[in-house]
Amino acid sequence: MNLIKTLLSILSVVLFTGCTTTVNKNEPEQIAQSAETKPLNIILLIGDGMGLSQVTASFFWGENQNAFQRFPHVSLIKTSSSREKITDSAAGATAFSAGIKTYNGAIGVDDNIKPVETVLEMAEKKLQKTGLVATSSITHATPASFFAHVERRSMEEEIAKAMAGSGVDFFAGGGLKFFHHRSDQTSLLPGLIDAGYELDTTSLGSQHDISKKYAYLLDSTGMPRMLDGRGDFLPNATKQAIDYLSQNEQGFFLMVEGSQIDWGGHGNNAEYLKTELLDFNNAINIALDFAEKNGNTLVIVTADHETGGYTLSSTPKTGENGLPYSDYNEITGTFSTGGHSATLIPVFTYGPGSEKFQGIYENTGIFDKMLEIQGWK
Ligand code: MG
Ligand code: ZN
Repeated sequence: MNLIKTLLSILSVVLFTGCTTTVNKNEPEQIAQSAETKPLNIILLIGDGMGLSQVTASFFWGENQNAFQRFPHVSLIKTSSSREKITDSAAGATAFSAGIKTYNGAIGVDDNIKPVETVLEMAEKKLQKTGLVATSSITHATPASFFAHVERRSMEEEIAKAMAGSGVDFFAGGGLKFFHHRSDQTSLLPGLIDAGYELDTTSLGSQHDISKKYAYLLDSTGMPRMLDGRGDFLPNATKQAIDYLSQNEQGFFLMVEGSQIDWGGHGNNAEYLKTELLDFNNAINIALDFAEKNGNTLVIVTADHETGGYTLSSTPKTGENGLPYSDYNEITGTFSTGGHSATLIPVFTYGPGSEKFQGIYENTGIFDKMLEIQGWK
């Protein structure tokens, strides 16, 4: 009897070990998660216009560690807005920030133009620190939907007015012209300083004191393109924001946007798209490196919609016989539209609560799950 028991236990150890080895072999790059179920911090990274083909580009052209490969959980969202089958970035971001379906162009307001509380505002109430980083102007649709409530996304000067009272502790991006030398001849910069912000319009700092707030407005409108030498602004601002926000004992909420993946798609410019995507990949790696060490941070990577109808198509060529053929060894990025598309969008999650993101659900589910996981519902 004892012998049988011993044999069984040896067998189960062998089986268990064998099983573990097989799983690891198939998924070598995923990172181990801690046993925490409720995250202290949430980092939401939005690749504007980043559909599955855009993500796939990182596997063909990325030179650095592939960030997407590191996530243990992947799911899909439907992105239609309240009145249109194809969303824009305003309705798309408001679905994430406030959990509602609203009309294209709406910034933090519902279908009746009524303001809706955002996850960032809720985090502020819970004494968390909050941050926004974008490569567009900080008043652009995606970041704006987390701190402002206006009828139309084009009202960037109005959106800028909301910043000083928003509670956002750290923000970095472009958009200086909506704060300074405005069409109404006023400047909002003194108001930011009065609200306690350390303001810099030239470069990102590297030392941040948790008792202060930081405002980085580093370009007039959007930040430069990667193709025009933006350098490491996005990963660096992500790192600076995390280093600063993570000093807070009550935790933090940070939204990071790779804004210009969308602009490369609108321009049907494959090089523009690729370089912005790879830069966003590096920012995701910064967030994951922190989350892995910290063990108490939920990282969510997704997009508001796909832009350009981008496809990793084969290159059309003409053979020696004069007949056309498709070269399956060479990918040419092609586009089907200068606008957005309705394709399902991937969601990548890591950290406590990440397993709640599964299956196919509406984009508002991102907000619902963040609240549920935090116990804020
Ligand atoms: Mg955007
Ligand atoms: Zn767009």
